[in-house]
Amino acid sequence: MSILKVARMGHPVLRTRAREVDPTEVRTATFQKLIDDMIETMAEYEGIGLAAPQVHESVRLFVAGVEGKGDDLKVVPFINPVITPVGDDEVEDWEGCLSIPEIRGKVPRAREVVIKALDRRGKPFEMTLKNFPARVVQHETDHLDGVLFFDRMPDFTTLTYLDEFQRYWTQPQDQDKD
Ligand SMILES: [Zn+2]
Repeated sequence: MSILKVARMGHPVLRTRAREVDPTEVRTATFQKLIDDMIETMAEYEGIGLAAPQVHESVRLFVAGVEGKGDDLKVVPFINPVITPVGDDEVEDWEGCLSIPEIRGKVPRAREVVIKALDRRGKPFEMTLKNFPARVVQHETDHLDGVLFFDRMPDFTTLTYLDEFQRYWTQPQDQDKD
């Protein structure tokens, strides 16, 4: 496995709609290696999600830690994901992005979503996610459409560098992700 170079804001690949993955392509050694390399790259940079365009591959694939926590975190690959919000409930919470280092901002997202995708064998599956994991898959699916989290912010008053985030914005109520 290898650690891949992460594209930063300004690289056109982050603003391009990624192409659908052909199900027969999923089982190829090249695609399986891409999934493994993305999981390793995400762990190296301590991300919770990583989309293929962020490693310069314009295909509809992301990996995300949506099950378990800490050492038990399970990273799931999602191929050709489609998200449907459940209900109208939106929540605003902090997001960051490996392609926009050192910056945080508050972004409104659907509280609960259903996500349908192909797994790493090319088989369809479906997951219902709430709160933080729901936020992660919405952020990553946006990457496949060339959308960055800034685009989802109604205004930029919460936009902050990481140092200032830790100094001024981390109140106990902001650390509770549930
Ligand atoms: Zn991101």
